[in-house]
Amino acid sequence: MKKWSVSGATILTSGKIIDKGSILIGNNKIEKISKKELSGSVSIDIDNGILVPGLINSHDHLLGTYFPKVGKGPYENWLPWDNDLKSAPVYQERQQIENRDLYLLGGYRNLVSGVTTVSDHIPHFVGDPFYDILPMKAIKDFALAHSVGSFALAWGDGIEAEYQKALREDIPFITHISEGFDDETVNNIKTIDKLGAVGSHSVFIHGIAFSESDIDLIKERGASVVWCGDSNWFMFRETTNIKMLLDKGVNVCIGTDSPMSGGENLLYEMKFDKELYEEIYGEELPDETIFRMVTENPARAFRLSRNGHIK
Ligand SMILES: [Zn+2]
Repeated sequence: MKKWSVSGATILTSGKIIDKGSILIGNNKIEKISKKELSGSVSIDIDNGILVPGLINSHDHLLGTYFPKVGKGPYENWLPWDNDLKSAPVYQERQQIENRDLYLLGGYRNLVSGVTTVSDHIPHFVGDPFYDILPMKAIKDFALAHSVGSFALAWGDGIEAEYQKALREDIPFITHISEGFDDETVNNIKTIDKLGAVGSHSVFIHGIAFSESDIDLIKERGASVVWCGDSNWFMFRETTNIKMLLDKGVNVCIGTDSPMSGGENLLYEMKFDKELYEEIYGEELPDETIFRMVTENPARAFRLSRNGHIK
């Protein structure tokens, strides 16, 4: 098989910036990254360019791609927003579009923002038929719940069974959590902990209502959190305690959520989240931190490098 080389660019890798470096690609994988010039049978010179790994969007609903933001917050939890969405004329109109077309739009929306891997939060029977037609990868191996509590949608086989499946198959268990302010939502972490689903395979989306003790438990168990700043701000005028999550060393990733509530694409979301952080805390969120939240952190959260390679 032919090997490709790309050289002359500034290469961003985990914790390192290589000026005018080269990469060698063989077998559809990056084989080598070097400061010296590497040459394959096909060589591409991108002088003055910037080379970054494919980005990972840690939370999306690809079926929700072709939507403007719908609703008017702030809401108490996701349910009244969902009611506003389902009763909006634009929802009736866009429901007429084939799922296949919506999935393709979702794929290209991600691809044009440098995303090569997305976590599509939806039951398997809905998403699985479309993942192989996308122009980039959707994570196929995951266990899930919609959310935690009495008004969660009935996705998956229940939190206990899904978390056990995640452990058995060494795949992530993904759920929306603590997305709102009512008594039940505020206690989501305690509820899900009783169901045995706070652990290293947990990927928790949103976490707006996380308390310090919730965050301590998440850190202690090695669970991951996905921050969707734009979606949170649009629906709730609030977001997760991102500073405390980062300060305590939780593995945090960034996701767009769907454009129905969230970021237009991942590059936009990264910019929005950086500005939101600065607005809330009056200090800068370093670019390096954001870069990790769309590369190595999600690779760990979604267990994409189990064999030492991004699958
Ligand atoms: Zn979501």
